[in-house]
Amino acid sequence: MPRTNDGARVLVTGGAGFLGSNLCERLLNDGHHVLAVDNFYTGSRENVAHLLDNPRFELLEHDVTVPLSVPVDQIFNLACPASPPHYQRDPIQTTKTSFFGALNMLDLAKATGAKILQASTSEVYGDPKVHPQPEEYWGNVNPIGIRSCYDEGKRISETLFFDYWRQYDIPIKVVRIFNTYGPQMDPEDGRVVSNFIVQALRGQDLTIYGDGSQTRSFCYVDDLVEGFIRFMGTSDDVTGPINLGNPGEFTVAELAEKVLAKIGGTSKIVRLPLPADDPKVRQPDISKAREVLGWEPKVDLDEGLDKAIAYFAKVVAR
Ligand code: NAD
Ligand code: UDP
Repeated sequence: MPRTNDGARVLVTGGAGFLGSNLCERLLNDGHHVLAVDNFYTGSRENVAHLLDNPRFELLEHDVTVPLSVPVDQIFNLACPASPPHYQRDPIQTTKTSFFGALNMLDLAKATGAKILQASTSEVYGDPKVHPQPEEYWGNVNPIGIRSCYDEGKRISETLFFDYWRQYDIPIKVVRIFNTYGPQMDPEDGRVVSNFIVQALRGQDLTIYGDGSQTRSFCYVDDLVEGFIRFMGTSDDVTGPINLGNPGEFTVAELAEKVLAKIGGTSKIVRLPLPADDPKVRQPDISKAREVLGWEPKVDLDEGLDKAIAYFAKVVAR
């Protein structure tokens, strides 16, 4: 990647995924040089097709479990499947991606002096016994269940980040992302917001797992990306972890009703079994993000759903 006076050289792993492609777009708009690295496990070239003509953008097919040597100033480590059906499809690969991906990117940061941000997750809190979840909470995670490849994978990545920071003084930024949705999510991704919208648009029934009383707090992607950018811009002493998410908390049943009310049609609600270890509640305490980054989400669920529905309507019509 070329070096200019204004733009930084930024590596985005998982750059062809949902969050990664939105982040690449923002970084390019901010004037940076962007290298997106992806093995297309859940992401697609289509997600970044509109960026390929930009001379400051490069896309490299590469698996982060393999070391990478490129000149960079900043690294956003996002590579990892995030949807439960996808990360459970090949759980050993998920653990390998989390651990070796973090290790290889930290080695790259060590070699280049780049700042590095890790996309961690609210899943580090597991099925939380503290609500809402502050960063000080150590969590309640099953180490041997079907979600463990992801939850424990992300926890060991955080451990690696903080050990590289303590041992080698690497400038790290660890962000714990709470359920985020929006354009460029794969319609077959399997997460709840995309499932409900796509089901309603196709006239299929909306699949609630369990009784729908479990809660999640849904953040619109543009808000999250703004938080990433602010966090990366902080001084080296700001390591996190910092929660990023929208504190607006809804039951899954409420989400289904909202989507049905917005899209209309003939879809009904059907109940399917609740998967094992599905967290009962989840809501970010974003006091740190407010204080340290001056950040809080701007897009509420109603507005965000309208934007997401407009996106999926185009994709489903194709
Ligand atoms: P996504 O599945 O759309 O994107 C993940 C991307 O990583 C895909 O493009 C995939 O092909 C790529 N990838 C997977 N394994 C790889 C490997 N070994 N090498 C190279 N690329 C690989 O998911 P997303 O929602 O965009 O999530 C991005 C990151 O944010 C993930 O690390 C995820 O754990 C984290 N996160 C997301 C959310 C959310 O709500 N979206 C919440 C918490 C954490
Ligand atoms: N869920 C649901 N129907 C779906 C997909 C998910 O009821 O079609 C539920 C799921 O059981 C969980 C919540 O919605 O309680 C959020 O699921 P998602 O996979 O989006 O994210 P995560 O569980 O990782 O927070």
